[in-house]
Amino acid sequence: MTEEGTPVEVWERISEAGIRVMRIPTPFQVGRVNTYLLEDDPLTLVDAGPNSGKALDELERQLEALGHRIEDVELVIITHQHIDHLGLVDIIAKRSRAEVAALDLLVPFVENFGSDAERDDEEAAALMLRHGISEEVVRALRQVTGSFRAWGSKAHVTRPLHDGETVTLGHRTLEVQHRPGHSPSDTLLWDADRRILIAADHLIKHISSNPLISRPLDGSGERTQALVTYLGSLKETRELPAQIVLSGHGEPITDHRSLIDERFAMHQRRAEKLYGLIADRPQTGHELAQALWGDVAVTQAFLTLSEVIGHVDLLVNAGHVREVEDGEVVRYEATSERSAGELGDLIPGGNPALGRV
Ligand SMILES: [Zn+2]
Repeated sequence: MTEEGTPVEVWERISEAGIRVMRIPTPFQVGRVNTYLLEDDPLTLVDAGPNSGKALDELERQLEALGHRIEDVELVIITHQHIDHLGLVDIIAKRSRAEVAALDLLVPFVENFGSDAERDDEEAAALMLRHGISEEVVRALRQVTGSFRAWGSKAHVTRPLHDGETVTLGHRTLEVQHRPGHSPSDTLLWDADRRILIAADHLIKHISSNPLISRPLDGSGERTQALVTYLGSLKETRELPAQIVLSGHGEPITDHRSLIDERFAMHQRRAEKLYGLIADRPQTGHELAQALWGDVAVTQAFLTLSEVIGHVDLLVNAGHVREVEDGEVVRYEATSERSAGELGDLIPGGNPALGRV
């Protein structure tokens, strides 16, 4: 196994499984998104790319190179709610009359895409202001978010999927696994016979999947602890005897357990680093983000704040940090004189990599 690139044998196994990867361009920093064509009965597309002419052109071209047309697609499965994955679903479904499958929890979001936009924006704005981001940046970010929505689209879901159910195609059985954290709707497709997992953005080889703060899909008002949720989901994925994990971006993963262990170690380190900053002096989430990443571009402000809040949740849950109201904003402060090195394991329920030594 080489560091860069994926060995030929791995691509051969993917191809023998009747899985074709199509890399569709996106206007986002993440670059291309992987969509997967399962050459099976029905002909199944997992994710579709963002809603843009360029993405549609490329999808058509790449499908054609594989001997298919959009009109041939019979089933589209959506892995999660992000627009780089679901934007083209509606166009494809209308042209092909394909069934559209998505996790039951995700159905209202997809069918009403954008209708809650105002409420989403208001809640995100309130959260950002509360954590010390300036009104000016919040206003600018709101415009960016609004324009990004054009790359998404509504779609009609004809087949709601339930966590734990199996989707049976002619030549494979896929178990549906709800593994929230990166988004509230992350859905994995597990082929136990082939030991191949389609994981979308739940696990990506070259970047850690940021646990973005999002509104709960069940409509409850409570902010979910995205990183805490994510780490719990990763533990479940770690237990799967997968040989190949196919991600929403980048290369296939052939050693998911050690990659997940690297992620646990990284989140532990990041939480310790944040603790060190907080122990120096009480700070807002935004000040902490700036200390870690400097003056981030406006578009990254919500993302980096999500990262900070996710890790501070670990510290607050473990009792090392508390939130203190300071006028309009909230600051974090340490609850004791402990040093970052004395915090112990911060992974909720214990880091499984440490438990097995
Ligand atoms: Zn995503």
